[in-house]
Amino acid sequence: MDVQLYNVGPRIPEELNFLETLSDNIWWCWHPMAIELFVRINPNLWRELGGNAKLFLRTVPQSRLEELARDPVYRRHLRVVQADFERQVQKDKETKKRDIAYFSLEFGIHESVPIFSGGLGVLAGDHLKAASDLSLPLVAVGLLYRQGYFTQVLDRNGWQIEHYPVSEIHNLPLVRARDKEGNGITISIPLIDRQLFAAVWVLWVGNVPLVLLDTEIPENPPDLREVSWRLYGGDKRMRLHQELLLGIGGFKALLAMGYEPSVCHMNEGHAGFLSLARISHLVNDFGYDPNVALETVWRSNVFTTHTPVPAGNEVFDIGLLRPYLNVFAAEAHLDVNRVIRWGIPINDRNHASEMSMTVFGLRLADYSNGVSKLHGEVAREMWKNLWPQRSVSEIPIKHITNGVHIASWVSSRLWGLYERYLTPKWAHNPPLDQLVEGINTLPDEELWMAHELCRQSLVRRARKLIQSNVRYLSGHGKEADLAKNALSPDILTIGFARRFATYKRGTLLLRNPDRLLALLKDTVRPVQFIFAGKAHPADDAGKKLIQELVQFAESHGVQDRLVFLENYDIGMARSLTQGVDVWLNTPRRPQEASGTSGMKAAINGVINCSILDGWWAEAYNGENGWAIEGNDYYTEDEDRDNYESQLLFNLLENEIIPCFYERSNGDLPVRWIKRMKASIVTGLGKFSSERMVEEYRRFFYEPAEASYRKLTVDDAACAKALVAEKERLVEAFDGGKLYIERPTVDGNNLTDMHVGDKFKVSTQVYLAGLRPDEVEVEAYYGTVNVHNEIIESGAEKMDMVEELPDNNYRFSCEIVCQAAGRFGLTARIKAAGHDWDNSVPGFMCWPR
Ligand SMILES: *Cc1c(COP(=O)(O)O)cnc(C)c1O
Repeated sequence: MDVQLYNVGPRIPEELNFLETLSDNIWWCWHPMAIELFVRINPNLWRELGGNAKLFLRTVPQSRLEELARDPVYRRHLRVVQADFERQVQKDKETKKRDIAYFSLEFGIHESVPIFSGGLGVLAGDHLKAASDLSLPLVAVGLLYRQGYFTQVLDRNGWQIEHYPVSEIHNLPLVRARDKEGNGITISIPLIDRQLFAAVWVLWVGNVPLVLLDTEIPENPPDLREVSWRLYGGDKRMRLHQELLLGIGGFKALLAMGYEPSVCHMNEGHAGFLSLARISHLVNDFGYDPNVALETVWRSNVFTTHTPVPAGNEVFDIGLLRPYLNVFAAEAHLDVNRVIRWGIPINDRNHASEMSMTVFGLRLADYSNGVSKLHGEVAREMWKNLWPQRSVSEIPIKHITNGVHIASWVSSRLWGLYERYLTPKWAHNPPLDQLVEGINTLPDEELWMAHELCRQSLVRRARKLIQSNVRYLSGHGKEADLAKNALSPDILTIGFARRFATYKRGTLLLRNPDRLLALLKDTVRPVQFIFAGKAHPADDAGKKLIQELVQFAESHGVQDRLVFLENYDIGMARSLTQGVDVWLNTPRRPQEASGTSGMKAAINGVINCSILDGWWAEAYNGENGWAIEGNDYYTEDEDRDNYESQLLFNLLENEIIPCFYERSNGDLPVRWIKRMKASIVTGLGKFSSERMVEEYRRFFYEPAEASYRKLTVDDAACAKALVAEKERLVEAFDGGKLYIERPTVDGNNLTDMHVGDKFKVSTQVYLAGLRPDEVEVEAYYGTVNVHNEIIESGAEKMDMVEELPDNNYRFSCEIVCQAAGRFGLTARIKAAGHDWDNSVPGFMCWPR
């Protein structure tokens, strides 16, 4: 049947027109007053529709809207929100100049916009909200999934089943991107011998536009329409199509909309192909030589790696990839083999069968980072092969620790208290001492009451959920009764919600069934556990963990104290991280790059109990929660898991449970509340997405943007000069022509030194045609390990002291012994300045 499609919007009374504007920008989802504006219209319907504002306005009876249009109290409320909105959004929204483009395969903004799967997406969503709050000139790019990730239900055996409901995109706050003539923008990219088309949509996140690509359009043959159906669904080829669409199609969409970003941020390797589109653009639209374009692009790219787990670091088989890259390389006037080599570490070039998107991203970004202090170290160790000439501490991968968007995750009950007692900037990366001062004025009783209300809401919500899905677990009446009485609103509640991947060890507690059952059956100091989380559809081992939890609870009759909530999503994450007392995290260190749910918990006064991994390794201070110290020396997972689960039970039995039930001062757990307050200070003070985005701005975006300006002015004179210099550097360094002598020490006996002593080091170099100002010669020294390898290194710049014949020079410097210990000393030549240190593999020459 051939039908004509049309949309009918609600007829909103003129007085309430602003509601429609509000529903077209997801800004409302992090402004409690704005949410309240919708809730007041019809609280039950709002909840039923999962907070989808657009659908809600289409569903509310006309009469209710007309009634409110006459209600002066409601209209006043609306005007307050409107003023707020206009102050924060409208002004900046029109500015077309957006220098920073942020690419991600997923964005978790609100549960009503299902285009995310988990932590990576939620982080990206929080990045955009903070960018909006900070009025950063940022535009984001992603894909518009029609079926999102998946909806999780458990069958009667506790086995995960995936459903893929199709989302009605006309109920999402999307507007079609239009060109100057007002036509809807559609872009296309070549896939070997076909074209993949995508319609371009925009979802406004405050004043940040999120550009979304949709392939479910008639221009595409059926198999290509599927490209934007499912997040992380389909096979490798499908994933490749998605990533080509994101990187190359996404960049094309920006250009078609009139954006001309100078900095591109790849959120994970998925977005890596954008570099090819950037090079192609400079070559074809501005007449750059491809090498000049490359020099410009890598120096203004930012790359963030998010996981040390191999499965999270995408690789593509070169056989699969090559036919696609043939086309894109040709467009960019690049040799395809060269492009493929960008994704392979130097030492593997001769036998690699796969290209790594992480390597590709690292090579094509001057600015790269891991997502916590510990993960920065892990990432430097993991990718050190890209820079074979350097020590691990000199691998140019930095860290910017993740953060969470405060206003999106703080419960409305605590919001009120924070507004009253904390510094007015409490949600905007305030100084720690101001937070501490404020939190000390917050009465214990008020904080505890607010938190207990959060726990009660969580229990109410959990019971509803369990009742609605218990039929999947069992058909008996007994189970329905159990569901009704599951959980208690007043007892110690421990939450664990995250992806069920094996390294996260969702079943660590089951290693000691007796100790666990003793806790679950204790009636004097009762404890309950709430679990939630999805396993990847292809991960049977992960699904088995979920099943083990559910079956354990059933077989021991503790379903009321150990519950699993189906279909973890953003809304549930909010309830859990606001309503539990303890947030548990048990990854195998150091595989959790950061983790962000614990930060959401912290800002709500929930206390973390976690392995010292990811963010917690830098957040834990002895007062703001509990650390499972763990043991990195066990090489067998089995041993480590046993050991660490014992530690966890020790903590629960000896510290956590007694602390919670210590009620010497009436019914207030005073020591507990002290920890809650410390947890809040840590969360608000150090782990907000505003802090994170500020760091990206200061350390990455601004220098990258300055670099782009400098490289592109005057007909790219600066970029051209760098290309010429690079050629000389490559010849001298990689051609093996440079030479540096082992350094000698003048006038002193190196074996007998004391702290404070000085000695003079000199060396002779042959520069193979380079000028002395093009290189830096350094004395390189540091403490050594038992193999006499330098581990903690320092470098001292040497000065040229003598020009010798034939391009030979003598360099020297003085070194002061700063600390006692056993040290090693050598010297090296590096390329000077211009961020050559960050290039892959960099330029470095050691004594041979
Ligand atoms: C915050 C969040 C995550 C990430 O939490 P981790 O601590 O990284 O496991 C995953 N899923 C949802 C829905 C979230 O809100």
